[in-house]
Amino acid sequence: MSGYLAIVGLGPGDARYLTPEAEAALAEAHALYGYGPYLDRVPARAGQMRHASDNREERGRAAAALRHAAEGARVTVVSGGDPGVFAMAAALCEEIESGPESWRALDVAIIPGITAMLAVAARIGAPLGHDFCALSLSDNLKPWELIERRLDAAAGAGFVIALYNPVSRARPWQFGSAIGRLRRHLPPSTPVVFGRAVTRPREQISVVTLDCAETVEADMATLVIVGSRETRVIARPGKLPLVYTPRTAAEVSA
Ligand code: SAH
Repeated sequence: MSGYLAIVGLGPGDARYLTPEAEAALAEAHALYGYGPYLDRVPARAGQMRHASDNREERGRAAAALRHAAEGARVTVVSGGDPGVFAMAAALCEEIESGPESWRALDVAIIPGITAMLAVAARIGAPLGHDFCALSLSDNLKPWELIERRLDAAAGAGFVIALYNPVSRARPWQFGSAIGRLRRHLPPSTPVVFGRAVTRPREQISVVTLDCAETVEADMATLVIVGSRETRVIARPGKLPLVYTPRTAAEVSA
C-alpha cells in the first residue's frame, strides 16, 4: 500500500485566498495534520481525523503524517501561506530523506498557497516589483551571525528584502538588531512596510522610513518589507501610500 500525502498552503488567512486545489485536498483527506490555529481555519468534515500540534514540533508532525500515509491513508498536512516558504514542505522532505525507504514510495503533492510577502505587497502597491529576496529572522534553526551576513549581502546588493518571523516572545531583540544592520547599507529614508495579520480580521498595514522602523510594533503575525534604494512612495490623500519598486534599476549598489 503506497499512501498519499498532500502538503497544502492555506494562504495568509482569509478563505478567499485558498486555491480550489487546496480546498479539494482538504476535502478529500482522511486525516489532517498541522499547527492548531491553522487547522482551526479548515472547516470540520465528518469522518476526518485531526492531529493538532505545537508550532515548533514540525519534524515530529512531519514524521507522524508520513507514518500515517505509509499505512495507506490519504493524509493532508496544512501550512500557513505557502508550504514551501519557511514551512512544512521542507520539514517533510527532511524526514523523507532521513526516514525509512518506504516513505520514498509515497505519492507526495505539494499544493502552493499565497505566501505572506505577496499578500502584504499586494495591499500596498508593488514593493516587490523588481529584484527581491526573502529572509527569516528566526535564529532557531540557524546562527544569528549567518542572518547578519545575509542581511549585509542582500542590502548591499540592492535587493528589496521581505523579512519573515521578525519577532517572537523568545526572540525580542533580533528585529531591532536587523534594522540596525540594514542601516549600515541603506539611507534613512528607505521605505519599510509592516503588514500584520494580512487578510485576517485585525489586519494592519503601515509604512515608515528605515530610521524609525524599530519603533514600530511587530509581532509573530507581521511581515516586514524593507525597500531598496530604488523603492518609491507615492503619497495619496486620505489613503495608504503606494509603495513600489520600479522595473528599471539605474544604479549599481555599493
Ligand atoms: N509559510 C508561511 C510563512 C511561515 S513563517 C507563508 O508562506 O506565509 C511565519 C511568518 O510568516 C510570520 O512570522 C509572519 O512574518 C509571516 N506571516 C504569515 N501569515 C501572515 C499574515 N497573514 N500577515 C502578515 N505576515 C504573515
